[in-house]
Amino acid sequence: MTADTVQIEVQQTTQSRLQEVDFNNLVFGRNISDHMFIAEYKNGQWQDLRIVPYGDLSLSPATAALHYGQAIFEGMKAYKNDAGEVLLFRAIDNWKRLNKSAERLCMPQIPEEVFMNGLTELLRLDAGWVPSQPGCSLYIRPYMFATDPYIGVKASDSYYFIIFTSPVGTYYAKPPRVKVEQHFIRAAEGGVGATKCAGNYAGSLYPAKLAQQEGYDQLIWTDARDHEYIEESGTMNIMFMLDGKLLTPHVSETTLDGITRKSIVAIAEHWGIPVEERRISVKEIIDALKAGKLEAAFGAGTAVVISPFATIAYEGVDYALPEIKEDSFVNRVKNYLTDLRTGKEEDIFGWMLKV
Ligand SMILES: *Cc1c(COP(=O)(O)O)cnc(C)c1O
Repeated sequence: MTADTVQIEVQQTTQSRLQEVDFNNLVFGRNISDHMFIAEYKNGQWQDLRIVPYGDLSLSPATAALHYGQAIFEGMKAYKNDAGEVLLFRAIDNWKRLNKSAERLCMPQIPEEVFMNGLTELLRLDAGWVPSQPGCSLYIRPYMFATDPYIGVKASDSYYFIIFTSPVGTYYAKPPRVKVEQHFIRAAEGGVGATKCAGNYAGSLYPAKLAQQEGYDQLIWTDARDHEYIEESGTMNIMFMLDGKLLTPHVSETTLDGITRKSIVAIAEHWGIPVEERRISVKEIIDALKAGKLEAAFGAGTAVVISPFATIAYEGVDYALPEIKEDSFVNRVKNYLTDLRTGKEEDIFGWMLKV
């Protein structure tokens, strides 16, 4: 399939909901933009590419994804520059990662043209939904799921690929309190932890609920075998500032290869800050906390961007983290990423795409 064979039929809404949205008080995940992009996989081909008004789907109760979990997704964001143009951040990397997830779950690959043309067409149509308020952006949710109306564990023959978008503000109102999880796990070697498959998030809800009942906002996942090494925090990658170095667990079979994470690593290296991507033990971090040497611990992901932790809890003890200083790495890299994404900073890494 090449770019000129990608025909997208467009049916525009006659009733935009844009006026109903309060862009000065955006709540994460509440408002969905006017249109969605849909492609259907049938007979070994992606077809019926279309943009239609956002609305309900009609599906068989036997829809395979609902029973056997062939469902994967992505999360990315679009921004506006001062000229009002829409900019996408590292969208190609999201397309590649969706295909990696698809391979692991025996789902079809999505051609670049289908993903990128569907995405850019949708964003052009709903450009009015991209917020220009500071700290706000348009969250983009591409996802694929199995649609065979069939009972039985096998790879489906038919799929939907959909993209819809949502204008969003900040994710956490204040720095989260996080707890090192020592019983439940998110991912094990040989499993699906490196994919953004729906089941990973369902499985994390119960441990997160228990932590919330204890007064924490989020978990720090540890390795499945010994709970000795740090993996991620909730649905974010995790990073630390220690002795002037940026530390982050290396990407593995049990962690998600986050685009925010690798962007921060690239920026730190560009600034000449030492970066260590390696196994990080819980003990190393707790020892640094006890000695008052941990400068910062933060989550990194598309939804939160960069989220410094207020507290890390381990074996029933709460360790407070120092306040983030104005000129700290955490603040500088956060501001740099924001400026890059809103076109105020020169795109020296070649990450931005004008829609
Ligand atoms: C999506 C996700 C991340 C962050 O990835 P980004 O590409 O930076 O958004 C990290 N961990 C998990 C488990 C995720 O699902």
